[in-house]
Amino acid sequence: MKIKSAHFVMSNSKVAQCPNEPLPEYAFIGRSNVGKSSLINMLVQRKSLAKTSGRPGKTQLINHFKINDNWFLVDLPGYGYARVSKKEKKTFQKYITDYFRKRRQLVCAFVLIDIRHEPQKIDLEFMQWMGENAIPFAIIFTKADKLKPQDLESRAAVYIQKLLEGIWEEAPTHFITSSTQGIGREAVLAYIQDINQEFRKQVN
Ligand code: GDP
Repeated sequence: MKIKSAHFVMSNSKVAQCPNEPLPEYAFIGRSNVGKSSLINMLVQRKSLAKTSGRPGKTQLINHFKINDNWFLVDLPGYGYARVSKKEKKTFQKYITDYFRKRRQLVCAFVLIDIRHEPQKIDLEFMQWMGENAIPFAIIFTKADKLKPQDLESRAAVYIQKLLEGIWEEAPTHFITSSTQGIGREAVLAYIQDINQEFRKQVN
């Protein structure tokens, strides 16, 4: 898919106030510092569409971007960040879970995982919650440039295996990416394009 246009639409913390156009929507979520902003900027080839980390936890909003005038990219706050106060954390969880439960346009959530890290409880719990709520998601492994190319697939396989030891019977779709090297860009965009086409068939 060629990215012809990408622009910021709105930020808010209420799912009811999100854009009401019937466009397919893709959400990006993961632990703070996983490389989410860098990945979004890499995918849409804009230097700073998503803001890369300053003080983590500061972008506690649902951020909508319209891409090619026919789909939404949604940048969600990073989770699992200790510096967010308890009160903030609670609000955050509620509006994020509200978003996932209620957002009808959401066709896929991309859960970002740093490929170097061992499976973390918070990520596994989050994916379990997604499964229980029947929210479609795919895993995007980030920072692939930090490992040797020959180790990438086996590392991803170990991670997926861990998921399959839990509640999962089927491995989720996964992508291996590096924002600094542009790895995985075509694959993620092709996946989005395929889902967009399905979405249009169903709408028409
Ligand atoms: P966010 O908090 O999830 O939005 O993460 P950022 O995109 O701000 O990235 C967090 C840190 O990881 C920054 O220092 C980035 O430069 C670095 N980073 C992000 N993506 C990559 C990547 O693909 N490769 C490498 N080597 N570093 C990355």
